[in-house]
Amino acid sequence: MNDNEFGQQHIWHPYSAMHSDLPTYRVVSAHGVRLKLSDGRQLIDGMASWWCMIHGYNHPGMNTALEEQLHKMAHVMFGGLTHEPAVTLARQLVDVTPPPLQTVFFSDSGSVAVEVALKMAIQYWQAKGQPQRQRFIALGSGYHGDTLGAMSVCDPVTGMHSLFKGILPEQIFVDRPACRFGEPCGQGDIASLKMALEADGHQVAAVILEPIVQGAGGMWFYAAEYLKKARELCDHYGVLLIADEIATGFGRSGKLFACEHAGIAPDILCLGKALTGGYLTLAATLTTEEVAVTIDRGNPGVFMHGPTFMANPLACTAAITSIRLLLDSDWQGNISRIEAGLKTGLEPCNDLEHVNEVRILGAMGVVEMKQVVDMKTITQAFVEAGVWVRPFGKLVYLMPPYIISDEDLDTLTNAVVRVVCDQ
Ligand SMILES: *Cc1c(COP(=O)(O)O)cnc(C)c1O
Repeated sequence: MNDNEFGQQHIWHPYSAMHSDLPTYRVVSAHGVRLKLSDGRQLIDGMASWWCMIHGYNHPGMNTALEEQLHKMAHVMFGGLTHEPAVTLARQLVDVTPPPLQTVFFSDSGSVAVEVALKMAIQYWQAKGQPQRQRFIALGSGYHGDTLGAMSVCDPVTGMHSLFKGILPEQIFVDRPACRFGEPCGQGDIASLKMALEADGHQVAAVILEPIVQGAGGMWFYAAEYLKKARELCDHYGVLLIADEIATGFGRSGKLFACEHAGIAPDILCLGKALTGGYLTLAATLTTEEVAVTIDRGNPGVFMHGPTFMANPLACTAAITSIRLLLDSDWQGNISRIEAGLKTGLEPCNDLEHVNEVRILGAMGVVEMKQVVDMKTITQAFVEAGVWVRPFGKLVYLMPPYIISDEDLDTLTNAVVRVVCDQ
């Protein structure tokens, strides 16, 4: 059995069947925005490896920092011990996020960062003597991860809640914001959230949402005013607000954090994905002094979570270096340049027969088709065009590394136009 056959029969891939006829392409190395396949072909990566690889692959500065840390220590437990990479990273995160967020809990993946956020909210209300606040309000079309708690706040239909009925906690869902980014948002747009808070607010621990950009649940960009109003409603009904910026964090939407579009701060913030510049898996859940101190004063007086690989020093070093690289670069210039390139490049898709609409925000370009695309043929066509684009459902989207050149961006958008729009 050769390697390809062994892989096909023994390895699961994300959201795939074990024995599927969808091909997987073997990557042997990657540099800048290019993936090199085992047959020698090079593909321009339009996905930044799912939002992560913002500075590109094999970045010399990232590599050097990690090599240096590797020779000091790759890992050490975080119970009772601490280290410079964790402290430096925590300082950076407290500095760059909205001022009320003052404490950092490190974990290994986005889904876990969401679990941690949900547990923080529950423990907070327990400590406040309101243990009945055990439910969460989430938005339709939201996506927050794949573990059970995180799944419970994902869109119930696309998240296949029916399959897990009885073991997923039942949360309260409100309509996804209908008002688009850049447009106003009226009372009608927020009515669903307001009604849910009015009816069930007393048993709600927190509202959880992805600010401005709903990612894997539909690549939808909504009005900053909605977010502002959601913050006001949370304050009015006395519930916490959890912002899941795992996808939007670190510049993707044109602001360092998407909450900045609305000038609001959440009570709990989840970060992941681009946190380490895509090098290693790491996530963080930040919260306010008030939430942290309240949990401390409650019973049992500690926060009940502690991953084995908490604050892994290599991962923290990758994050420190990635954040420095980002802040030292003209990232805003890069994002607006990519935004402009996506607008002109994907423009020909507008008004085409199979296309529902084109949406662009920051370094994200989405072509929503009228029909679900055929993954097998379309992926193959993209690979033949020299690009890596992985659609889901009706959505074909681009979110390249920030360092992509105008020429490579052109190749990417041209491939989308040719392969999906203009068939
Ligand atoms: C990807 C993602 C998650 C889950 O992160 P994992 O690292 O895949 O567990 C959660 N929330 C949002 C908004 C995401 O985009």
